[in-house]
Amino acid sequence: MATRRDRLGAAEAEGSASGAGSGGVEVVLLSDPATPAPLCPHGPTLLFVKVNQGKEETRRFYACSACRDRKDCDFFQWEDEKLSGARLAAREARNRRCQPPLSRTQCVERYLKFIELPLSQRKFCQRCQQLLLPDDWEGHQEHQVVGDISTTQLRRPSRLLSPLENKKTNAQYLFADRSCQFLVDLLSTLGFRRVLCVGTPRLHELIRLKASGDEKSNIKSLLLDIDYRYSQFYMEDSFCHYNMFNHHFFDGEAALEVCRTFLQDDKGEGVIMVTDPPFGGLVEPLAVTFKKLIAMWKKGQSEDNTHEELPIFWIFPYFFESRICQFFPSFRMLDYQVDYDNHALYKHGKTGRKQSPVRIFTNIPPSRIALPVEEGYRFCPLCERYISLENQHCEYCGSCTSKDGRKWNHCFLCKKCVKPSWIHCSTCSRCALPDHSCEGPRDGCFVCGELDHKRSACPKISASRKVNKAVRKQKQRKSNKMKMETAKGQSMNHTSVTKKKKRRERVHQYLSS
Ligand code: SAH
Ligand code: ZN
Ligand code: ZN
Ligand code: ZN
Ligand code: ZN
Repeated sequence: MATRRDRLGAAEAEGSASGAGSGGVEVVLLSDPATPAPLCPHGPTLLFVKVNQGKEETRRFYACSACRDRKDCDFFQWEDEKLSGARLAAREARNRRCQPPLSRTQCVERYLKFIELPLSQRKFCQRCQQLLLPDDWEGHQEHQVVGDISTTQLRRPSRLLSPLENKKTNAQYLFADRSCQFLVDLLSTLGFRRVLCVGTPRLHELIRLKASGDEKSNIKSLLLDIDYRYSQFYMEDSFCHYNMFNHHFFDGEAALEVCRTFLQDDKGEGVIMVTDPPFGGLVEPLAVTFKKLIAMWKKGQSEDNTHEELPIFWIFPYFFESRICQFFPSFRMLDYQVDYDNHALYKHGKTGRKQSPVRIFTNIPPSRIALPVEEGYRFCPLCERYISLENQHCEYCGSCTSKDGRKWNHCFLCKKCVKPSWIHCSTCSRCALPDHSCEGPRDGCFVCGELDHKRSACPKISASRKVNKAVRKQKQRKSNKMKMETAKGQSMNHTSVTKKKKRRERVHQYLSS
């Protein structure tokens, strides 16, 4: 249970990294960097800056794009740091040493050998999370090994492998069957023939299972994921070892080509990208990556299709709506609640928390996406989209306003609908939880603390330190949003502010020392 809370905690923390009153770390995305970012074993690193209230921006530094825990990748380099030749050589050696033990081709060779084996010789080592060939057996004698790995098991690696549980870097949250089935059926109803699965191994395998069992729905799928273990189960054309925070293909040009071909086949027609990134990840680098994939797809388009968009499903918590829509204005959030298997809190039904905060963001018109009526979703003819059971059309707002699945109430003073647990506070001139503290966090500038401007407009930041303006602007909006979001539904209401703050700090700890 704590796991999910942490993942969410991280997500909320990320959403509020630059909230007033506390320090935070921001990613700096330069459209045209003077020097390329140094490399860690996970590809190009990202540039970060630590911001503290009352202080000017501190030195910028490079850190791993994928690992938010220094235990997983401790890469650190000041932006202006000059490394000696010896240190550079040592780093390169380390980067090479940390690469996966087998090449993509070697993995495929092993796989082909494995499927030739009689059932009795097909073994899987649970400790090493590895399919074993007879030559390997000896080395795993002391390990927990399961035998008789059937073809069905091979086709469902997400069930054979244990989900990664590293909370900070790579916690894997696998779709519950119900949600996964819903997605596959939806993709097929919408007529897609190819699905680029970015960080969705379970969806990938279900698409392939369906395709093999049913001639009609012959949908192809390509999985891009950082989890190297999956390379044991797929040929080169259906899995690429990939980092979605820097668009890095671990197997170089050949893998990039697999992805490009997949996107550009059929002049790019009939393809959709579906992604379910770690929620603790930063939104900006993800957006940059997705734009690169979109550009790749666009290159395969014919001239007269230039206004078309690559269809996308981005699965993420609802409280990231404004951030995602800032990067992708054509995206709409669906009411559908995505459920997960390996987390009690998000499981549907009696045992778990009923309302999952995870949604689908998409540029496909919501009117085309029918949500399952048997789960309580219904069509709102005014909004022309499917909405959750308790969501109600507000005549003042002109839309179905609930984001979290509960019925929201219209506040005439705020001129908008608010969560049912909120009341209007005349001191703050806005709606908030009844027990909020009216002083609240101050909304001033992050650098000097003045209330009349934001960090991006602070005269104390010298012009030479101008980081990507758009990123900052959106950080401000985000911090405003966070204040409105101090309560994430009932289950979070009891979490004290200090706890949240602690959690926030913990998330960015690895970057701050
Ligand atoms: N719900 C999905 C799994 C989502 S969990 C499903 O059931 O298919 C997040 C996924 O993203 C995991 O598979 C994880 O391995 C992958 N991932 C995490 N960090 C990544 C990164 N930096 N690059 C690519 N994939 C990543
Ligand atoms: Zn790294
Ligand atoms: Zn073993
Ligand atoms: Zn309203
Ligand atoms: Zn109000």
